[in-house]
Amino acid sequence: MDKPKIAVYKYSSCAGCQLQFINIESELTDLLGHIHISYFKEATSLEEDPPYDIGFIEGSVTCPHEEEKVKKAREDCKVVVALGACACEGCVNTLKNYHDLNDVVSRVYPHPEYIHTYEQAHGIDHFIKVDAYLHGCPVNRLELRELIVSVLIGKKPYLRPHAVCAECKINENECLIQTEKALCLGSVTRGGCNAVCTTNGRPCFGCRGPNEDANPEALVEIFKRDGHPLDEIKRRFLYFSGDTPVFRKGAEACV
Ligand code: SF4
Ligand code: SF4
Ligand code: SF4
Repeated sequence: MDKPKIAVYKYSSCAGCQLQFINIESELTDLLGHIHISYFKEATSLEEDPPYDIGFIEGSVTCPHEEEKVKKAREDCKVVVALGACACEGCVNTLKNYHDLNDVVSRVYPHPEYIHTYEQAHGIDHFIKVDAYLHGCPVNRLELRELIVSVLIGKKPYLRPHAVCAECKINENECLIQTEKALCLGSVTRGGCNAVCTTNGRPCFGCRGPNEDANPEALVEIFKRDGHPLDEIKRRFLYFSGDTPVFRKGAEACV
């Protein structure tokens, strides 16, 4: 049987999620026995023509050029995987969605007249059908490896339905909301990162997007009780996953 052909694409992103691909080096050599990399600009100059079996797409779509390319990638790949928070939910690129575009562009670029961008940035499923999602900023290497193996053996990838709090408790951490009144989004955020931030003393910023059963309004009430200014709570909800209905609900509850 021919090895599945893999393509890795990049749109508006920092390339950190593609790097995780390269970082699974200890297993990559084993995996390479079962897959064939056809297109992956960060890793190889080889560029084979489509069709591809699996397309990993990193980055959000922020301009007409990227919309065209992502639609073409969908046509070229049998299975499309959104690789990381930018592709899944838009990530920090969506921060511009809540500001005047001209103001944003002129703050960043000395010659804004050359910039042709949409008013809003979105994850790729705003434009195309996505078959699987790898969440996080960046994606978790174990989940990436697990997904590749699942696709190879035709098994449905395991999606972690629990919140970051569950992993935080497994790691026997004290809750940062209770000890420090921290603005921690762990209770409304999808687990799978082994609560890496809270385990290292930093609140969860929600980079993996909302978990099932998330109740953002209740969390806002707790933050209000703890005396956090409304605009700070709102910014926390909009930071990574503000383009999701659940986190937007959290931001809208900040009144
Ligand atoms: S999700 Fe984070 S690490 Fe991945 S490409 Fe986007 S900004 Fe970079
Ligand atoms: S610190 Fe954050 S992730 Fe950990 S239990 Fe508290 S709210 Fe949940
Ligand atoms: S703890 Fe929260 S911010 Fe940190 S990696 Fe996990 S989901 Fe992302």
